[in-house]
Amino acid sequence: MKKATKKEIAIIKERFVERYDDAVTELTYTNAYELVVAVALSAQCTDKRVNIITPKLFEQYPSVVELATADLDDVKKIINSCTFFNNKAKNLLKMSQRVVEFYDSEIPLDSKELQTLAGVGQKTANVVMIEYTGANLMAVDTHVFRVAHRLGLSDDASALETEKTLVKKFKTNLHQLHQGMVLFGRYVCKAKNPLCDQECFLQEFCKTTKSFKAK
Ligand code: SF4
Repeated sequence: MKKATKKEIAIIKERFVERYDDAVTELTYTNAYELVVAVALSAQCTDKRVNIITPKLFEQYPSVVELATADLDDVKKIINSCTFFNNKAKNLLKMSQRVVEFYDSEIPLDSKELQTLAGVGQKTANVVMIEYTGANLMAVDTHVFRVAHRLGLSDDASALETEKTLVKKFKTNLHQLHQGMVLFGRYVCKAKNPLCDQECFLQEFCKTTKSFKAK
């Protein structure tokens, strides 16, 4: 597949930043604790589903203090419509216990520290930092991965390699680019039936072949 040229990368970046300057996550949260929990739950699960689950979860467990001593089965019951809810419930408890024990019950706002928490990998940590602090970091989910490949920004096989490549190519404005690529992938450059003719503002840079688009 053809790669995007330097000039193309610069224009793609400019257009994303212009259109998605104020874009934020579609996950519902009011503080860092709720954001970490919501992002952790959203792995392999839709934001819509997570937003249905979290109000009851946060009502029952308003902070890491309550979640750290929660009954595992009760948490499982609340989140059981989420994919991998068994593991996610276990990790939520462990994550909260660690935050209570080592971080004075405050979510550490540092990507590396966040990754010491159960169930929080690099992608989750970076999404939290991008959303909560506007950090100049990239995180590659299924949407960012697809968009990056269709636009010839990356030909990497893994999300982490794609993240590295995007960081290298874009360098700055990474949080806007992340939010923009997620929303663009979710609503325009969709996996099936992308809205190429109707809504794409990057059509001239698209490196996909016809067969790549869903019928
Ligand atoms: S032309 Fe279609 S497939 Fe290509 S980037 Fe735009 S929406 Fe995505």
